[in-house]
Amino acid sequence: MGQIGRKKDDRSREAFEKAKRVIPGGVNSPVRAFKSVGLTPVYVERGEGCTVYDIDGNRYIDYVGSWGPLIMGHAHPEVVEALKKTAEKGTSFGAPTELETLMAELVCERVPSCDIVRMVNSGTEATMSALRLARGYTGRSKILKFEGSYHGHADSLLIKAGSGVATLGLPDSPGVPETIAAHTITVPYNDLESVKLAFEKFGEQIACIIVEPVAGNMGVVPPLPGFLQGLRDVTEKYGTLLIFDEVMTGFRVDYHCAQGLYGITPDLTCLGKVIGGGLPVGAYGGKREIMERMAPAGPIYQAGTLSGNPLAMAAGYTTLKLLTPQTYELLERLSVQLQAGFEHNARKIGIPVTINRVGSMICPFFTEQHVINYDIARTSDLERFKNYFGAMLELGVSVAPSQFEGMFMSAVHTPEIVDQTIAAHDKALRRL
Ligand code: PMP
Repeated sequence: MGQIGRKKDDRSREAFEKAKRVIPGGVNSPVRAFKSVGLTPVYVERGEGCTVYDIDGNRYIDYVGSWGPLIMGHAHPEVVEALKKTAEKGTSFGAPTELETLMAELVCERVPSCDIVRMVNSGTEATMSALRLARGYTGRSKILKFEGSYHGHADSLLIKAGSGVATLGLPDSPGVPETIAAHTITVPYNDLESVKLAFEKFGEQIACIIVEPVAGNMGVVPPLPGFLQGLRDVTEKYGTLLIFDEVMTGFRVDYHCAQGLYGITPDLTCLGKVIGGGLPVGAYGGKREIMERMAPAGPIYQAGTLSGNPLAMAAGYTTLKLLTPQTYELLERLSVQLQAGFEHNARKIGIPVTINRVGSMICPFFTEQHVINYDIARTSDLERFKNYFGAMLELGVSVAPSQFEGMFMSAVHTPEIVDQTIAAHDKALRRL
């Protein structure tokens, strides 16, 4: 069973020291190192449903869900069964399989903007490929993105804002050439005026706007009413493509993704996370006329040795099949319960907290302000978040080790588990 919460961490410490000798920073993706919260990462032994068990014998109610994919929980029996059956027949062929078509049919059926879809291996690959397509299709180089959004680690997307509205971007990381950054325009999220200004200046040169229809990498920030429609209007006016990066929101916030929820249809959509059911999958899709510019139908190149991998398709297909409109009603009920409990606790204890939520993406910000963009998200008390994170872990609740990430409810959490989480949250806030 394991003990509830982090009571020991000797083995995780030892594992981390060992890892640091052979893996940069000890991890294969930076946030996992728990650097910003100043703790030793939890080394996971296994997951089951909404629970994860670590190698020190502790267990946690999990709201990380592998950073979004595990909407049906860890090791869902049907997903595991599909993986076993598929693996027995071979794990990769580099040749087409019928499962890829089944998967594509399912995605196109549910995602309003997708007539046709290409599978890749990560969200990063999906956004990188969609950008190339937008540039190849329009013959333009510039792109527009939003401050505090994350779209994977491709060069054009690791860009911070230049100084002032409608200036060109600067590299966010060594290794990204300035000449590439100069093609990326960055403006504040939810700020249509800045978008319009940028288009007045550069409109004819902008290949695409790429946007998270619900921002999930600055905490959780919903689009203000009219924001997505405004992006649709301005892109249509200038012959620019609108790309929804639904890597996080796709099949997370609605049966028909965020585009279904808000009723705005982009030209291209990037997917990842949930569509892989916990295996490495990304996808990009959209209007047939645009997508068929990709090789081999068209001249724009993109490929992948493992793209459409049978195991990844099996996990993704099974997960999507498990999701029904009722699943999203259940997720909504559980998430409302969690939000109400957290808000009640914060009010009672007198700690300023603003909770943003869209469906099962939930983020308690340690600020009193209404969070509509990255600058406001950054008014959160990060020292308080750090202490809160540590307290939650000790009390048996695993949330992402950053104020700028949401919590993910799964369909295998229960009202009882959510009540236990609210009780832990109450105790954690009292310790702050
Ligand atoms: N886009 C968004 C909106 C994301 O949240 C992420 C990952 N958090 C990515 C792209 C990149 O996906 P991956 O980590 O699978 O490359």
